[in-house]
Amino acid sequence: MNSSDKYILEIKRLKAEKNAIILAHYYQTGDIQDIADFVGDSLALSQKAASNNADIILFAGVKFMAETAKILSPDKKVLLPDMNAGCSLADSCKYPDFEKFIKDNPGRTVITYVNTTADIKALSDIICTSSNAVQIVESLPPDEKIIFAPDRNLGNYVLNKTGRDIVIWNGTCHVHEEFSLEAILKLKKENPDAKIIVHPECELPVRMVADFIGSTSSLLQFTKKDKGKSYIVATEAGIIHQMKKENPDKNYFPAPPRDSTCGCSECSFMKLITMEKIYNSLKIEKPEITIDKDILIRAQKPILRMLEISEKLGL
Ligand code: SF4
Repeated sequence: MNSSDKYILEIKRLKAEKNAIILAHYYQTGDIQDIADFVGDSLALSQKAASNNADIILFAGVKFMAETAKILSPDKKVLLPDMNAGCSLADSCKYPDFEKFIKDNPGRTVITYVNTTADIKALSDIICTSSNAVQIVESLPPDEKIIFAPDRNLGNYVLNKTGRDIVIWNGTCHVHEEFSLEAILKLKKENPDAKIIVHPECELPVRMVADFIGSTSSLLQFTKKDKGKSYIVATEAGIIHQMKKENPDKNYFPAPPRDSTCGCSECSFMKLITMEKIYNSLKIEKPEITIDKDILIRAQKPILRMLEISEKLGL
């Protein structure tokens, strides 16, 4: 038995003993996705966090996701195996700056992406994810003025799709901004049948060459249903694990980043979570997510509004 097998057995035992579940994001490593009780994107994970019977939720993802789980299930213990698992996008939107931004743009409905800290959510009217951002904006009256934060690329994508009056916060994700258009086109030249599939957090030039644009789960659905055989995938490379599981006979190429010394398109924050840290965290029930009660209550409202709209729209 290797050390990974040992962790898997122990994690299963601890989960049963403590009535715990593991929620894992698609950007986790394949082995972690395989031991999770539920794997999904931000929308599906928040829906799952709001409806489960566990006493403990261990979140294999980054901090804003674990915070969202805690906000939706305040009576449960929520564990994040490494508190350094942050997010460059969430970090690009700080409370005092965003509070000022809202004051400087009065009379607008504040829609923030789930990739934000709990205090930013508490300043928001509705939360969205990349799976429902367009539909959430479209669910509002046509003349409603909007602030969209923090991802400028997703914001521009939503603005172009909806034509609404939207003021956009200037934040970005270090993974999705890093894809190289030149390297993607080179890969396409070498593999002319490959379809380019792109997350809306990517920059406009990359979105412009896409055969399909969608959230992480939409990209997965696309590769499942599409008749093509090969794909250049412009999002965090962890999703390719699920794509291969669903359609092992197809070919998937991670879109190359600008920094060719790395050659990968992985989120360093997501990859801080390891099997060993999950085991230790479940064992000692730490580190635990805690959120100031007032912030938690204020942050809950816009998330619930997102879940209600999503449910109504069948998302
Ligand atoms: S991929 Fe980007 S948006 Fe997602 S957690 Fe990592 S830094 Fe944040």
